[in-house]
Amino acid sequence: MAIKRLGSGSSANGKIAKGCEHCMNGSKMVLFVTGKCGTGCFYCPVSDEKMGRDVTYANEKRIMSMDEMIAEAESMDATGTGITGGDPLLNMERTLSAIKMLKERFGRGHHIHLYTSSIDFEKAMRLEAAGLDEMRFHPPVLVWEHIDDTDLGKIISAAEMDVGIEVPSLPDHAPQLEKLIGDVAKMGIDFINVNELEFSESNWEMMGARRYELKDGASSAVLDSDKTAKRLMKKFSDVDIHFCSSSFKDSVQLRKRLIRMAERTAKEYDVVTEDGTVLKGLIYADDLEAAAGLLRDEYDVPDELMFIDPVRKRMEIASWIIEEIASELPFKCYIVEEYPTADRLEVERTPL
Ligand code: SF4
Repeated sequence: MAIKRLGSGSSANGKIAKGCEHCMNGSKMVLFVTGKCGTGCFYCPVSDEKMGRDVTYANEKRIMSMDEMIAEAESMDATGTGITGGDPLLNMERTLSAIKMLKERFGRGHHIHLYTSSIDFEKAMRLEAAGLDEMRFHPPVLVWEHIDDTDLGKIISAAEMDVGIEVPSLPDHAPQLEKLIGDVAKMGIDFINVNELEFSESNWEMMGARRYELKDGASSAVLDSDKTAKRLMKKFSDVDIHFCSSSFKDSVQLRKRLIRMAERTAKEYDVVTEDGTVLKGLIYADDLEAAAGLLRDEYDVPDELMFIDPVRKRMEIASWIIEEIASELPFKCYIVEEYPTADRLEVERTPL
């Protein structure tokens, strides 16, 4: 089968998993259900603030209840959810309850996939019964040559949901990857995802100790990880393998998700950029109500183009207005570029 290019270095041998389709559209919510994990992969990208802690995040937002999870999914009009961690199977009650609530609220068509390093038949069946649509197993490296000794084959035979594997392309483990792919293909696996290996803040030291190098100065991808994956795709040309590049995650998946969120949440005074960030003006003053009165009376700024944010103690205002009048105002004025995410991560702040 010919290798199909998917943009930004990603490619596929055949069909791709349904969960990936939602992700590529930017319409998938990421539910980080728990940071607990007993696997200890040396390349683990999970940040120190989440790793090992039983904390839950919906996209970038730390949540304390399933209602907050639903609100986050609504804010981006999510068509699907990817449940990740840590290992979601280490908190089955929370994972099962999330699946049931998402299906109840958004219907059977809301596609849910889940990543786990635990190959556990009984838990897989409970997750399927709760409504899970797709399960992605991420076996630890030591298991790659011994996948026949696990319950994966039994799960594939018994499950009605799609079952796949998702592993990083480790350039120094090509023979083990080949063995794994050959064995799971024989089992009748539904899909195989191979991800470009990346450096992250949390794995930098371990990856350096193994002498992995950066592919180039522009990305965090590991040298030769992409070449290893492409060799595998050629070798197993009749198996559905999907290679997801590091740049595809940022330039396509993340960007589309940000644009989707920004378009749903932007206020009338926000400008949504083509990267999915939001531009707005900011005013800081001791008395924000008085500042709003001045803008209304002296500069005819309509109420819908400004907003006093009581939490951040600032006034948000249309960037095109503040640019015009900042030099005449007795306040600190800025233009900011922010992510439309719950944490409103600031990309840039320009004083006026
Ligand atoms: S299974 Fe996932 S979360 Fe656990 S250590 Fe490996 S990469 Fe990290």
